[in-house]
Amino acid sequence: MSDKYDVIVIGAGPGGYVAAIKAAQLGLKTACVESWTAEDGKSQVLGGTCLNVGCIPSKALLEVTHKYEEASHDYESMGILAKSVDIDVAKMMERKAGIVKQLTGGIAGLFKANGVTSIHGHGKLLNGRKVEVTDKDGKTKTYEAENVILASGSKPVEIPPAPFDGEYIVDSEGALEFTEVPKRLGVIGAGVIGLELGSVWARLGSEVTILEAQDNFLPVVDQQIAKDALKQFKKQGLNIITGARMTGAEVKRKLVNVSYEDSKGKQEAKFDKLIVAVGRRPYTDGLLAEDSGVSLDERGFIFVDDQCKTEAPGVWAVGDIVRGPMLAHKASEEGVMVAERIAGHKPQVNYDCIPNVIYTAPEVAWVGKTEEQLKAEGEEYNVGTFPFAANGRAMAANATGGLVKIIADAKTDRILGFHVVGPQASEIVAQGVIAMEFGSTAEDLALTCFAHPTLSESVHEAALAVAGGAIHVANRRKKK
Ligand code: FAD
Ligand code: AMP
Repeated sequence: MSDKYDVIVIGAGPGGYVAAIKAAQLGLKTACVESWTAEDGKSQVLGGTCLNVGCIPSKALLEVTHKYEEASHDYESMGILAKSVDIDVAKMMERKAGIVKQLTGGIAGLFKANGVTSIHGHGKLLNGRKVEVTDKDGKTKTYEAENVILASGSKPVEIPPAPFDGEYIVDSEGALEFTEVPKRLGVIGAGVIGLELGSVWARLGSEVTILEAQDNFLPVVDQQIAKDALKQFKKQGLNIITGARMTGAEVKRKLVNVSYEDSKGKQEAKFDKLIVAVGRRPYTDGLLAEDSGVSLDERGFIFVDDQCKTEAPGVWAVGDIVRGPMLAHKASEEGVMVAERIAGHKPQVNYDCIPNVIYTAPEVAWVGKTEEQLKAEGEEYNVGTFPFAANGRAMAANATGGLVKIIADAKTDRILGFHVVGPQASEIVAQGVIAMEFGSTAEDLALTCFAHPTLSESVHEAALAVAGGAIHVANRRKKK
């Protein structure tokens, strides 16, 4: 087969593999270069961070540990007498690995079915839309393409006070591989990843302390929602300390001694394991030849326009290596947009309608603007909220913490923000995404019939509450 392609994608994470499949579906001759090698040192692994060490394995552990926690603490109040509940960490990990294997193998199957050529090796963009691939034995080969899509993803940020040692001080990947439950677990960073991984091990019995440098908990989340979530996390026993900046970590006699500073001054803490989850950086190591024509912005992200075009003709970039939230579905949406643009269509990602989820219990999910953002922008808005405590299905499910909050434009009633903390928030938020994509008003949702009894009735009631018309809770219409 000739080494010239219509499209070469570098990276087979949710940005890259989705772009490659879509490009092939649109009739373009497509190859995808991926360097990830399995533990056998030979076979290629597709799926990127998301499938291998991110979204999927973390959710596999979160689902199991949530069930374990319910069985250990909540069953009795529901009349279930599960007298001895125990956890088999090795089996939990084996199950997680099985799910990962099934999904990554599935992508190899999808590549075959769609006619995507998979190339195993490290890809480097050269000048003039050429891609040099170095295989695992160090041999190089150069391919040509009409279009190149860069999708090399991101890596955990490592900070000087706490360098990873792979055993005691670990990144998110290491935290998905503990072989036993650490007695005392420290987590640096109360962002999405820190909260999710902290929850996994807390549910299994770890004493978890999360140190967060910022004073506000989850500053990007609507603060009414964030405060509600914080209250519930603390009740579960997560020790979350905000305004606490970690300044050093040292391993001595199998313990991690952490120093940090908070409003009271210098503090110390001892942990059996420390997870450093202070963010991720775009991964462009060895990706670009000096004369590739692609430039980076001041934070190291590949510079692209709204359609993911780089400054080099015919070169595009998607996913975690470009601006915007580091989320798998955002990466995939960009991948589809780019493939379709290459094929001559004119799609556009709606960056205002990308849902965000924190898969803790309760889950936190949102789309659109927070009250704080709208206030700062000087927008006039109305708010409707509805607590799960007043929802019959939530009571039946023993999950009454949290609320749905809808924010609508004061003049047009168009929905500007949709926020949920509570059971199934990750599923409920899709209703807000659809409503906002279709330009709905709060009244449109209020006029819609929702099945009874469902958690989604809380969306209906919150929409009714925007105009002060909720049925199952006293209305406190809040006009700004
Ligand atoms: P990646 O998935 O990082 O894939 C990039 C791929 O490119 C990798 O396979 C890499 O090996 C390959 N590569 C890099 N350089 C080269 C090169 N030069 N040549 C060849 N191959 C190369 N997001 C969500 O939306 N939901 C979640 O629940 C969620 N949970 C997460 C949990 C954790 C613990 C972590 C770490 C992340 C989570 N994320 C989640 C984020 C999500 O994983 C990323 O946003 C997503 O994987 C980004 O996709 P991507 O295709 O841009 O990059
Ligand atoms: P995210 O970027 O969402 O993954 O969140 C990472 C979090 O880590 C942010 O909220 C940062 O404020 C926090 N953080 C970064 N450095 C430190 C540090 N040295 N000590 C404590 N928290 C930190």
